[in-house]
Amino acid sequence: MPMEPLTNRSVIRDLLQRHGFTFSKALGQNFIINPSICPRIAEQGGAAAGVGVIEIGAGIGVLTAELARRAQRVVCIEIDSRLLPILSETLADFSNVSIVNEDVLKVDLPALIAREFAGMEVVVCANLPYYITSPILMALLEQRLPIRSVTVMVQKEAAQRICAPPGTRESGAISAAVWYYSQPRLLFPVSRGSFLPAPAVDSAVIRLDVRAAPPVAVADEALFFRVVRGAFGQRRKTILNTLSAALKLDKEQTRRIIEGAGVSPGARAEALTLEEFAAIAGQAGELLPQLPQNLGPGD
Ligand code: SAM
Repeated sequence: MPMEPLTNRSVIRDLLQRHGFTFSKALGQNFIINPSICPRIAEQGGAAAGVGVIEIGAGIGVLTAELARRAQRVVCIEIDSRLLPILSETLADFSNVSIVNEDVLKVDLPALIAREFAGMEVVVCANLPYYITSPILMALLEQRLPIRSVTVMVQKEAAQRICAPPGTRESGAISAAVWYYSQPRLLFPVSRGSFLPAPAVDSAVIRLDVRAAPPVAVADEALFFRVVRGAFGQRRKTILNTLSAALKLDKEQTRRIIEGAGVSPGARAEALTLEEFAAIAGQAGELLPQLPQNLGPGD
C-alpha cells in the first residue's frame, strides 16, 4: 500500500493523534510539510546508490523516506522514543532504514559508521534540531569522521554565519571552525511556513563538503581554536584585548604574538582570515612555553 504523503497536514494530524504525540519545543520539533524540500535535501545531499546516510532527528520520517528511496542504507539517530511507534508505521515499506534511539551528541559515531556502512561512501543529511546546531556540526567535523559531506537545514542566520568566509563581516567562531574542516555553501532558503508547527524564524539548507586536509597549516589545533574562540569572545573588542584575556597574557606579550604574526593588534576578530588565525596560533605556540606563567607543573 503506498504511503500517504507525510507532508500532508491531515495525514500528520491523524498520525500524531492516533499515537497521542504532542510536539516538544525543547527538542526542536518542527516537521517539514512543504513537499518540495525533502527530495531536494536528499538529492543535493548526495543520497544515491551505494551511499550510506546518517540522518539526525527523524521526526515522523518525512526526510528519512526520501533518503531511503535513494540511498543504499539510512541510519537515523532520534532522541525521542515517543516517535518510534510512528516511525515503524511510516517507514514500514523500507528495509534499508534503522533508527538509533539516542542523543546524537552521545552516539559513538566512528563505531556506528564502521558497523553500519562498511564499503559505502557516507554522508549526513538532516533537518537539525536548532537548539544544538553548533554542537552537532562541531561533533561531526572535529572527530574527522570518514564522511563526504554534511547537508543540513539550519536557521537562516546560522546558515549565513556558517557560510561566511573568515575575514568577512558576518563571520564568527563557527565559520572559522567550519571552514577549517570543510567547504561550506548555501543551497537554498526555506520559509517558516514550510514546517509544522511553524517556527519563529526562516531556515536554509547548507552543504559542507568535508576537506581531505585543512586549508591552513596548524601545529596545535587546540591552541588554534582557543585563539579563534578567544578572539570572537567579545566581537566588538580588538584582538589585543580579547586574546590577552583568552591566552592569559599581558598586553605587551599579546601584542608581540599578534604583530609577530603580521596582524594588526587593533583588528576585530571578524576581519581575520584563517591564515591570520593560524599565524597567531603559531606565534603563541612559540612564545607561550617560554613565559614564566606557563612553566608551572601541568603546563
Ligand atoms: N526530520 C524531521 C523533519 O524534517 O520533519 C524532524 C526534524 S525536527 C527539526 C528535529 C528532530 O530532531 C526531532 O525529531 C527531534 O526529536 C530530534 N532531536 C532533538 N534533539 C536530538 C538529539 N539530541 N539527538 C537526536 N535527535 C534529536
